[in-house]
Amino acid sequence: MSKVMLITGASRGIGAETARQAAARGYALCLNYRSRADAAEEIRAACAAEGAQAITCQADVADEAEVARLFATIDSQLGPISALVNNAGILETQSDLVDMSVERWRRVYEVNVLGTFLCSRAAVRRMSTLHGGKGGAIVNLSSRAADLGAPHEYVDYAASKGAVDAMTIGLAKEVGAQGIRVNAVKPGLIYTDIHADSGEAGRVDRLKVNVPMQRGGLPSEVAEAIIWLLSDAAAYTTASFIDVSGGR
Ligand code: NAP
Repeated sequence: MSKVMLITGASRGIGAETARQAAARGYALCLNYRSRADAAEEIRAACAAEGAQAITCQADVADEAEVARLFATIDSQLGPISALVNNAGILETQSDLVDMSVERWRRVYEVNVLGTFLCSRAAVRRMSTLHGGKGGAIVNLSSRAADLGAPHEYVDYAASKGAVDAMTIGLAKEVGAQGIRVNAVKPGLIYTDIHADSGEAGRVDRLKVNVPMQRGGLPSEVAEAIIWLLSDAAAYTTASFIDVSGGR
């Protein structure tokens, strides 16, 4: 029987590439998305072409009832989940903190932090050997921004990823004896459409001069780290972080 993986935010970028690589490795997949149904269906078809069982499921990870529906869909259509990638994340237009609104902070925290908490809680309840589960692995998408702070761009986003870092360590320690590993990947400047959402589609190319390796990264290079952390090859790795950032 295939291992079952949920990837949140799998309709584009790092989530979509993780889906492709997971399909090639034989996982059964639930591809979550928020709004781009056509893009998610395209990724699902690509995964199916690899021979993987794959479904799509629209749900806002920041909404408790929608996350409950998302996991109920996985339970009924794919079976017991054993791998979760908390990938869905947002940022907003580049700005100094003094000019940001409370509504913006709420949006960023609700998706990046609350969404990660809600999906992790639902996954742990199913994976934990204490609850009759068979164990599993969780990978959170943090960011190098959590360490760099993202000044003049999005300190709120950086702080939300700092919260994800703390949660990764704490949850890993809570569930280490319950058959569940929890780790995080911290991408640097990766070529995806998220930068257009910040108001600067060419951000990676502007900043790549600051990267020791002198280039931006590819979604596939981040996906490789995610897939490794979820795999049995990482069986003794938990509460750990992998920077995929070209040294920045
Ligand atoms: P992206 O291209 O903007 O894709 C974001 C994905 O998340 C989309 O599939 C989107 O779905 C989904 N999503 C957004 N809000 C959602 C919600 N409330 N519920 C469910 N799904 C939601 O992002 P990316 O660049 O691949 O980034 C993926 C992760 O890596 C994020 O957590 C990001 O913070 C992190 N990261 C990225 C970089 C980078 O340079 N790209 C660097 C560091 C960390 P729809 O398209 O359907 O709306």
